Amino acid sequence: MTENIDEPVKDYVCGMVKPKSQMEAQTVYKGKVYFFCAEDDKKMFEAHPDAWIPNQEKDTM
Ligand SMILES: [Zn+2]
Repeated sequence: MTENIDEPVKDYVCGMVKPKSQMEAQTVYKGKVYFFCAEDDKKMFEAHPDAWIPNQEKDTM
């Protein structure tokens, strides 16, 4: 799989969708990478990852 930095990704904390290249922060949870528009959103996610990940996303893990 080739890395596409302009692929749109969703920040599950604030709900914003932006290209990967414009995201400020990222974290890995259960082998998946999650992107965030701000460090604060990443901290919120890391505090309670399961609360932020949508259910349909969990089913594919
Ligand atoms: Zn955000």
